[in-house]
Amino acid sequence: MPNLLKRWIKEAQNIVFFTGAGISTESGIPDFRSPGGLWSRMKPIMFQDFISSEEIRIESWERKFDSENDISFAKPNEGHKAIAHLVKSRKVSYVITQNIDNLHQDSGVPEEKIIELHGNSSYAVCLECKIKYDLKSIKSEFEAVPISSRKAPNCKKCGGIVKSATISFGQPMPEKEMKLAETVTLSCDLFIVAGSSLKVYPAASFPILARNNGAKLVIINREPTELDQLANLVLNKNIGPTLNYLL
Ligand code: NAD
Repeated sequence: MPNLLKRWIKEAQNIVFFTGAGISTESGIPDFRSPGGLWSRMKPIMFQDFISSEEIRIESWERKFDSENDISFAKPNEGHKAIAHLVKSRKVSYVITQNIDNLHQDSGVPEEKIIELHGNSSYAVCLECKIKYDLKSIKSEFEAVPISSRKAPNCKKCGGIVKSATISFGQPMPEKEMKLAETVTLSCDLFIVAGSSLKVYPAASFPILARNNGAKLVIINREPTELDQLANLVLNKNIGPTLNYLL
C-alpha cells in the first residue's frame, strides 16, 4: 500500500498535506485523542471561559507553562522532515496544519507554505490590539509572584487580554488562513492527511472538500479516523517511518 502512495506522489501535480497532532507524537508531544493523550487527562479550556474569568486565564497560563517543555524542546521528526523535503522539491505546494508547535517551520518548510488553522503556541497576542508578546517575558512576570497572588497578563499598550496565539475551542477561526486553506485544497490533486483523528471541525472539512473536488484523499493514521470511508487510501501506520519510506 505505501507503494501505491509512492506512485500517486510521483504522478501528482499538486499535493497538499494536512497534519494533526499525530505527526508530532514522534517528537515527544502528546496528541489529544490517542489512548492516554492530553484529552483523557485534562479538558481544554473554552475561549468564552478564558475571556470571562481571570481565574481560568490564570489556570490556562499555568497549564501552558507546565506543558511548555513538551513543545519548546521538541525537534522535528522524520515525518516533518519528509514533508519539508517534498515542499522543497515542489511536489507539495502547501502544508495545512492543525498543530501549534512550530515544527513544520523548524523542519525547514518556508513560513508562507504553512497554513496554521489553530494558531501557534510559541508566542502570545493581545486579543484587542493584536500586538505580539514574547512568552519569556510573560512567563517571568507571571512566575515572579507567589502562586496565590498570580495575575493573568494584560496588554501593556491597550490593557486588553493577552492570550497564547493559539485558537481555543469556541474561538473564531482565523479568516485569512481558512480562506487560503480552502483555495489550496481546491487546487490540489492529492490531499494527504497525516496524524489527525479528523474529529475537529471546521478543520476536518478540508479533506472532504478535497475529495469532493476530485482530488485523491489519503489518510495516514495509526488508528481509524472519522473519514476513512471517504478516502482513496488509508494507511494505519506510524507517520515518520511511512513518510520516510516514501522518499
Ligand atoms: P488528535 O489527537 O485528535 O488525533 C491524533 C491522531 O493521530 C490520533 O488518531 C492518533 O491515533 C494518531 N497518531 C498519533 N501518533 C501517531 C503516529 N506517530 N503515527 C500515526 N498516527 C498517529 O489530533 P488532531 O486531529 O490534530 O486534533 C487535536 C487538536 O489539538 C488540534 O486542533 C491541534 O490544534 C491540537 N493539538 C496540537 C498539538 C501539537 O501542536 N503538536 C498537540 C496536541 C493537540
